[in-house]
Amino acid sequence: MAINLELPKKLKTSAELAHQGAAEIFRPISRKYDLAEHEYPKELDTISALYDGLADAGQAPSAASGDRKTDGDAPKPKPETPEGSRNGGTMESIINAIEMCWGDAGLMLAFPYQGLGNAAIAAVATDEQLERFGKVWAAMAITEPSFGSDSAAVTATAVRDGDEWVLNGTKIFVTSGSRASHIVVWATVDKSLGRAAIKSFVVPREHPGVTIARLEHKLGVRASDTAEIRFEDCRIPYENILGSPEVNVEKGFAGVMQTFDNTRPLVAAMAIGVARASLEELRRVLADAGIEIDYDKPVNTLPHAAAEFIRLESDWEAAYQLTLKAGWMADNGQPNSMQASMAKAKAGRVGSDVTLKAVELAGTVGYSERTLLEKWSRDSKILDIFEGTQQIQQLIVARRTLDLNSSQLK
Ligand SMILES: Cc1cc2nc3c(=O)[nH]c(=O)nc-3n(C[C@H](O)[C@H](O)[C@H](O)COP(=O)(O)OP(=O)(O)OC[C@H]3O[C@@H](n4cnc5c(N)ncnc54)[C@H](O)[C@@H]3O)c2cc1C
Repeated sequence: MAINLELPKKLKTSAELAHQGAAEIFRPISRKYDLAEHEYPKELDTISALYDGLADAGQAPSAASGDRKTDGDAPKPKPETPEGSRNGGTMESIINAIEMCWGDAGLMLAFPYQGLGNAAIAAVATDEQLERFGKVWAAMAITEPSFGSDSAAVTATAVRDGDEWVLNGTKIFVTSGSRASHIVVWATVDKSLGRAAIKSFVVPREHPGVTIARLEHKLGVRASDTAEIRFEDCRIPYENILGSPEVNVEKGFAGVMQTFDNTRPLVAAMAIGVARASLEELRRVLADAGIEIDYDKPVNTLPHAAAEFIRLESDWEAAYQLTLKAGWMADNGQPNSMQASMAKAKAGRVGSDVTLKAVELAGTVGYSERTLLEKWSRDSKILDIFEGTQQIQQLIVARRTLDLNSSQLK
């Protein structure tokens, strides 16, 4: 049996469109918004409008669509094609995220209507919620001043009052928090019931009780805004809860955690995109320096830089294949939590390794602002941190491999 590792035609077309946008719109303004932190990249409105038009024609590249489930807990539909497999929303989002981040990861994060909250909505919203929230721009607010990695430690509260929820709490480091039209907020409906009571809620950003308290200054992805948001007696309709309102102590907080199965491969894809940009630039720099990367010769006979390049490239390929696998499993209704974490751990590490090594191998050219190599080494770090750090992904893989739960392996 032959294995075909090429992308299917539909995905190729979408990737080409995303690549064109990344090359013609992102790259030329990449340095500008790295230097002008907190300034909204207005050029994104043009490309967003263009994608909207393409979306209406069924051709738009999207990096946050994810793949929809019928409700928070239901399995995804069975494969539809005669061959028994299909490439759906997650694969397409992955392919497009790679291309967009090849252009600029900060600008991709700042891209309107492609927030991580959008992926959460796409993953668990009901049909009625999709009607209302399917086209909003949604940020994702989990992290609080008291925790980051331990998502079960949510202290923000959502208290039911008639046909409304009343939200209170502070969220920090919210990507697109000051620009998105909506925020998907994680809050507990009953602290005494532990993690099972953590639910997510869709909250309009311009709404009574919602305050953007501050914006962060960051190492990388500076085109993207990162906000602290306070919720003070913020009232939203009861129907704005995502997934089931029932607190199922047996099931823990599988419902909200499920969104990570879609978003982690996406963040892995972002790291793969940035790393590919670095590899391509490094290849050019090495060629200018007269270093040939000759794949036909044994690695131990090559110049050090060429041998290192091949090592980085093969590591990149492993991350790429793992990420496609995690996405393909999501699209084919297969449980992919472990593969999503494997992809995120591998790609996050590869993103940092490749981009930093590229700076090193390119020497002064790499360290200066003459190329974007130094910028990519700063941009890639966050991709190994948010949506679960390197260590947290490894912990999840270990738990799955050893069949231990979160209280048995911490
Ligand atoms: C630019 C940026 C954008 C962000 N965007 C968002 C966003 O949109 N929404 C959102 O909710 N959050 C966002 N975050 C927050 C991000 O998700 C957290 O920073 C991340 O989850 C890590 O949490 P922490 O920084 O509190 O680190 P901590 O959880 O305090 O961890 C510190 C270190 O300890 C390690 N560690 C923690 N627990 C363990 C363990 N059990 N075993 C081994 N090692 C462990 C971690 O890996 C890390 O290296 C963003 C952060 C940044 C910097």
